[in-house]
This record gives sequence, structure tokens and C-alpha cells, in this order.
Amino acid sequence: MQRGELLYSGKAKSVYLSDDAKRLILHFRDDTSAYDGEKVAQLARKGMVNNKFNAFVMQQLEAAGVKTHFERLLSEDESLVKRLDMIPVECVVRNIAAGSICRRLGVEEGLDLDPPTFEFFLKDDERHDPMINEYHIRSFGWASADEVEQMKDLTFRVNEVLKELFIKADLLLVDFKLEFGRYDGDVLLGDEFTPDGCRVWDSETREKLDKDRFRRDLGSVVESYEIVAKRLGVDLQ
Ligand code: 5GP
Repeated sequence: MQRGELLYSGKAKSVYLSDDAKRLILHFRDDTSAYDGEKVAQLARKGMVNNKFNAFVMQQLEAAGVKTHFERLLSEDESLVKRLDMIPVECVVRNIAAGSICRRLGVEEGLDLDPPTFEFFLKDDERHDPMINEYHIRSFGWASADEVEQMKDLTFRVNEVLKELFIKADLLLVDFKLEFGRYDGDVLLGDEFTPDGCRVWDSETREKLDKDRFRRDLGSVVESYEIVAKRLGVDLQ
């Protein structure tokens, strides 16, 4: 499968057309960014680690009955995916308070959230991805009521599957962000699941092993992603 025209270049991934009109090629780059692109860096091996991490998670989710866009690995840093009609909304589930919810609500980092909480954000860098609610999504036509329900159900299902998987690897899945899209009348999980878009802590020490290492200048960013990958059983060879 050959890369075709560049369709879109994000902060850490580029998306290319493929030989097949219904498939796209994702290229996971070594670039990393935070704070809406204000802080950027190149981190060696990150593209490879995230490509393989994402493939592993998507395959685990498929095996658990969650439909995803993932088809197969193409190379060290490229994957083939179904071409979705993306819904411009980010779905966030939080099992433990961290990040923006602590700033917004004044809660302490590390607080267990029972039940896990859920938030929608609009994908809009210029407006710093504002938080939105279900009525906004329906009133502005970003998704139908049925699609909203499906996105919530699927996000909680992903949380159940992955929380279990992470616990067995002595990892706490603190929170994560998912994006969905339409494909042949179905809502499928799209985008990626990597330590760039979730928070993961060591169960015992609560050491941060995700992109907060980059955001907060804690160092060993890719090394931490590799620790998570290896504990989960991702083949990085
Ligand atoms: P927060 O709202 O605390 O900043 O983020 C909640 C979770 O969603 C974190 O795991 C964070 O990494 C992820 N997240 C939120 N927005 C984005 C985004 O625009 N890009 C990525 N990669 N992850 C995001």
C-alpha cells in the first residue's frame, strides 16, 4: 500500500490517501506538542512506539467487540485505517481527577471518581477545544442524538476494557480522549489511543507515564511510553 496525497497534517500524525478510496494511511511522527501547539519537540522513536501502541490497543478493543477504524500495521510508523467521516467532538472519560478538571472545578489531582465522569469537547484548536454538552452537539448538527448515545456507550465500554487491561499491567488508566467517525452507517472509534491522549500512572508509585511528562518537563517521555507498552505486552520490535 503506497502513500497517496497528504490529506491532513496534525500535531503528531499525518493522514494520507491510499490506493483504496475507503482506506487512509496514518503516519505517526516523532513530533510532539502541548498547550495547543505552543510547546513542541521532536522525540526520537515516538512515532514508532505510538504506532505500535495504537495498533495493540485497537486490536484489543476489536477483540472485545468495539468497532474501530484500525485495519493493519503498514510499517514501523504507519497504519492502514478505514476512512471515516469524523465527528468533530472529543469524548473524555476520567477515572481519577487530573488535568483540566482540577483547574476547572478546583478538585485535587488523584481523587477517585466513582462513577467515572464523562465530558465532551469541541475539536477546535483556535478556541482551545471548549467543553460542550449534548445539546450543543445536536443543536449545531455535529452529531445526531443517536450518535451522541453511541459515542457515550462506546467510550464507557472502551474504559471498561482498557481499565482491566491496564490494572493487570500494574497501571492506572486515569483518563483518556477518544474520537469517533461514521462508516457505512456505523459509528466507529477513530483517531488513536496512545499515551499522547491518555493519562497513565504506575499503580503503586502513581508515577506519571504519559504526555504529562512532556507537558510538565518531567523528562523520559518516550521511555515512559515504552514502559507502558512493554507492561501491556505491546511488541515494539
Ligand atoms: P484534559 O481535559 O485534562 O486536558 O485532558 C483529558 C484527557 O484527554 C487527557 O488524557 C488528555 O491527554 C486527553 N486530551 C484532551 N484533549 C486532547 C487533545 O486535543 N489531544 C490529545 N492527544 N489528547 C487530548
